[in-house]
Amino acid sequence: MALEVFKNLEKYGHEQLALFTNKDLGLRAIVAIHNTTLGPALGGCRMWTYGNDLEAIEDCLRLSRGMTYKAAAAGLNLGGGKAVIVGDSKTAKSEGLFRAFGRFVESLNGRYITAEDVGTDVNDMEYVYMETRYVTGVTQAHGGSGDPSPVTAYGVLQGIKACIHETRGTDDLKGVTVAIQGLGNVGYNLLKHLLDEGAKVVATDIDHERCEKIAKDHKVVEIVKPDEIFAVNTEVFAPCAMGAIVNDDTLPKFTFKIIAGGANNQLKEDRHGEALRKKGILYAPDYVINAGGLINVYNELEGYDRDRALRMTRGIYYNLLRTFAIAKKSDIPTNAAADRMAEERIETVARSRRAFLGANPGPLRQLEFRRSSTT
Ligand code: NAD
Repeated sequence: MALEVFKNLEKYGHEQLALFTNKDLGLRAIVAIHNTTLGPALGGCRMWTYGNDLEAIEDCLRLSRGMTYKAAAAGLNLGGGKAVIVGDSKTAKSEGLFRAFGRFVESLNGRYITAEDVGTDVNDMEYVYMETRYVTGVTQAHGGSGDPSPVTAYGVLQGIKACIHETRGTDDLKGVTVAIQGLGNVGYNLLKHLLDEGAKVVATDIDHERCEKIAKDHKVVEIVKPDEIFAVNTEVFAPCAMGAIVNDDTLPKFTFKIIAGGANNQLKEDRHGEALRKKGILYAPDYVINAGGLINVYNELEGYDRDRALRMTRGIYYNLLRTFAIAKKSDIPTNAAADRMAEERIETVARSRRAFLGANPGPLRQLEFRRSSTT
C-alpha cells in the first residue's frame, strides 16, 4: 500500500500527503498538498464515505492537483490542496470532529488553507475556525465571505461573454439563447444575470417544483425535462449541475456552438475536449470559468471586500480569451490550452525565484491573514 501511495504522489508531483486521526472523536482526515509554488495550498474539505482508505487518498490527491491548476489559471497567488474527512456527513458530524480537524490544519502551519466542499458547510467551518486561522468560507460575521455561489455565477457570466466575443466578435448577450442545466445556487444566479443581459434562457432541473417556481417568477423561454437539455437548440449550453456531462452519449446530441457553465469536471475524459473541438464547439474549460468562488475566498485572506472580489472575477473574461488564443496558436483543444496556461504560470514564477536563489533564498511572501480575530 505504501509503495502505491508514493508512486501516486510522484506521478503528479505532489509535495505532501498528511493523515490525521483522533479515535475518540471518530476523525480520520487526509490533507493533500499538490504544489505551493504560487502560495499556500487552498482547497475545500470534502466529507464522504469511501470504499476504502486508498480511494479516499486517491480522491484527495486528484482534487488537490485540480486546485493547483484552478488557482494558477485564475492568476491567484495560491497553490493547490484539498482535505478529505472520511465519514458520513449526514450522521457523523460533531463540534469535536471539526475542532480536531481544525487542530490538524493548524499543525500544517499555513501550508494548507481549508474551506467548505461537498459534505461540509459554513457551520462546520465555524468550528474549524475556533482552532485555526487557516480556514476560509466562514460567515460574514467572522470576516468571511459567505456563500461563494453568486460570485461563481458572476464569473460564469463573464466567461459566456468571452465565448460570445470569441465566436461573434461582440460581448452583447441580447437575444443569445442559453440552456442552463441545474437551477441551484450557481445556475439560478446565472439565470438572473442572463435575463438581465437580455439573453433567452431554456432551463432544467431535476427538482420540478423549483423549475415551476422559477418559470413563474422569471421570463424563462422554456423549462425542459432533465434528459432533454443536451439536445435543445440553443447557442450556449451552461452546465451548472454535475460533472461528466460531456461524454460519448451526450456529444452526438449537441448542436451548441459554446459550452460554458459552472459545473466541475464537465469532460468525462480529457479526450472529450478534442471531440468538442472537432465538432466546432467552443469549450470554456470548467476550472477557468468557474473560478469565481475561489477568487472570492482568496479575497477573504486579505480582508474581504466584495467589490474587489467581483473586480477580480471579471478577469475570468480575459483568462478565457488567453486560453482560446493559446488553443488557436498551438492547434490544441481548449482544455489542454488551459492546462498549459496554468503550468506556464507556475513555471514562470518558479523560474523568477530560481534566478535569485543563491543571493536570496527567502520564502515566498505568504498571504497575510488580516481578518480581524474578533470571534
Ligand atoms: P447546487 O447543489 O446548489 O445546485 C445543483 C442543482 O443541480 C440542484 O438544483 C440540483 O437539483 C440540480 N441537478 C442535479 N442533477 C441534475 C440533473 N441531472 N439535471 C438537472 N439538474 C440537476 O450546487 P451549486 O453550488 O449550484 O453548484 C453547481 C455546480 O457548480 C457543481 O458542479 C459545483 O461543483 C460547481 N461549482 C460550484 C461553485 C459554487 O460556488 N457553488 C464553485 C465552483 C464550481
